[in-house]
Amino acid sequence: VDFILSEDGSGKGAALITAVIDKYLYAMRFSDETLRDIMARFRREMENGLGRDTNPTATVKMLPTFVRSIPDGSEKGDFIALDLGGSNFRILRVKVSHEKKQTVQMESQIYETPEDIIHGSGSRLFDHVAECLGDFMEKQKIKDKKLPIGFTFSFPCAHTKLDEAVLLTWTKRFKASGVEGMDVVKLLNKAIKKRGDYDADIMAVVNDTVGTMMTCGFDDQRCEVGIIIGTGTNACYMEELRHIDLVEGDEGRMCINTEWGAFGDDGTLEDIRTEFDREIDRGSPNPGKQLFEKMVSGMYMGELVRLILVKMAKEGLLFEGRITPELLTKGKIETKHVSAIEKSKEGLTKAEEILTRLGVEPSEDDCIAVQHVCAIVSFRSANLIAATLGAILTRLKDNKNTPRLRTTVGIDGSLYKMHPQYARRLHKTVRRLVPESDVRFLLSESGSGKGAAMVTAWASRLICSDPP
Ligand code: BGC
Ligand code: MG
Repeated sequence: VDFILSEDGSGKGAALITAVIDKYLYAMRFSDETLRDIMARFRREMENGLGRDTNPTATVKMLPTFVRSIPDGSEKGDFIALDLGGSNFRILRVKVSHEKKQTVQMESQIYETPEDIIHGSGSRLFDHVAECLGDFMEKQKIKDKKLPIGFTFSFPCAHTKLDEAVLLTWTKRFKASGVEGMDVVKLLNKAIKKRGDYDADIMAVVNDTVGTMMTCGFDDQRCEVGIIIGTGTNACYMEELRHIDLVEGDEGRMCINTEWGAFGDDGTLEDIRTEFDREIDRGSPNPGKQLFEKMVSGMYMGELVRLILVKMAKEGLLFEGRITPELLTKGKIETKHVSAIEKSKEGLTKAEEILTRLGVEPSEDDCIAVQHVCAIVSFRSANLIAATLGAILTRLKDNKNTPRLRTTVGIDGSLYKMHPQYARRLHKTVRRLVPESDVRFLLSESGSGKGAAMVTAWASRLICSDPP
């Protein structure tokens, strides 16, 4: 019973408590050696996804996006961008102009996507999207215009060109029927035609990682990686076309959507998955899928913490063994709570508030312990992302055949942005794992919204000057 934290209610001191938790959750704490090993595994997964013979059975799909360059500052025009699949469904109007220097003007609106629409039929989902778009155009007084539309669709899609995107599988909370295996551009066009009150011209579908890379590329030409650490997680980067077996041509580069959330779906990560990860997976909408995503992203992190607390309470290691219906309710601890609990000043007060709401009557030691559990779970997430990002960075370095890589990574996502320690931990670990690199991390300030529009701007320029 060396795990008992407070037998008699007297404080034992933070150092002792964190040492106990460290031991209890040792399987979630990785040495650099383990992280380098995970990095090497992901490197192999990337190669499998890119190779002609290995791609069909590869778990990390490495999807060609048909985006061939990053913005160069010459884009201009008036665009609409749809952004579906992140924490918000957003529609934007973006005007990019060139008086002396390039300026971007944006107006946007967030629309609800109720659960029943996310889980209903695909045609209802796209009717809803078309309806919101109609409402937006009405408000913008542009219903009579046919502005080019860019669609940020944050799910794995197979492209044969920029304006065709076949959904491979839903991820995160989405599960609308009849969409998997279909081209989402066709589905949206159909919904818009059916209404008949406005016209649309969908020019490009991009993943949110690509939108993020494009947004950041607009400010920093060196940006060649885009990452999302939010509800879900994923990354894209610029790969040499000669290494992309599935796309014709050897000259230049193309952006690859790695879909790293699926890393581990073939069992590659079994040695580092814990009983808590397996429980999360069993209770998820897509068991057996997106196993890496489930270890790291915002949709699952609060729940991971809750499952750990339940087990510890059951073993009498927390809350004097008190277990309440609230503590046992799925979803009662959210990732935003984890972020609050890890704040350096008010963290412990937040922990007390949150745990009190769950009815477990936490002691001071309980709060310290729970804060440390949160730290281990979120640190594991940052470490895992550092390993997969490290693999992408070493690949870029090898592609360029340079002893030192100087590059910029564009990042977005609620977890990365809201968590008080996450960014610092991630940056530090990446720099340690890939010492032969100078990486600039650039937050995509206006979210994937501006990114979606930049892609449209870029796409319409591309299509105007260089028809496919
Ligand atoms: C999706 C990716 C997306 C990521 C971040 C994942 O679940 O599969 O396509 O980029 O979430 O939104
Ligand atoms: Mg090729």
